[in-house]
Amino acid sequence: MSSKAKVQQLAEIAEAVNTCQKCPLYKTAIQGVSGEGSSDAEVMFIGEGPGKEEDKQGRPFCGPAGKFLEEMLESVNLSRDKVYIGNVVKHRPPNNRDPEPAEIEACWPYLQAQIEIIDPKVIVILGRHCLARLMPGLGTISQLHGRAFRHDGRYFMALYHPAVALYAGSMRQVLMEDFGKLKLLLNKIDSE
Ligand code: URA
Repeated sequence: MSSKAKVQQLAEIAEAVNTCQKCPLYKTAIQGVSGEGSSDAEVMFIGEGPGKEEDKQGRPFCGPAGKFLEEMLESVNLSRDKVYIGNVVKHRPPNNRDPEPAEIEACWPYLQAQIEIIDPKVIVILGRHCLARLMPGLGTISQLHGRAFRHDGRYFMALYHPAVALYAGSMRQVLMEDFGKLKLLLNKIDSE
């Protein structure tokens, strides 16, 4: 698919997300947060769902967790415009509560379509909710973080959600180390 067609299709998803009423989250959110980044990204990062700042700005990971994510991206020579960043649910759960399974399922076709359109070489799973939806039954985030898996013709790597580093300082180092492993994986893919 051409880059132009990808951009167009991602814009159509964003429009559908904005008027989506498939689950109740739209009632309490300000707006939908579809995702952003390069339609040709080799790496796609998928978080849990928009928080307060994301809900305000309509952009994923633009609050404190996003700042840390950007730092980690820079540490491996990536930037927001080179990757694609999305979420499992596209409307903010009230008071940042965990998304309900039914909400995750209702939103799944949007994420599935984004993955198909972008067709990244690597999907980086941020946190346990995304892990449970994308790799059900494989293990917990504490067992799987930083390990690469090949599935459906692409690589998957689960990382702790960047927000955990904001309230558990020791997790910062773990995340930085896992980003180092992501960098090694990207180097390996580039040389394949
Ligand atoms: N946390 C997420 O999981 N996603 C965002 O977009 C922001 C914070």
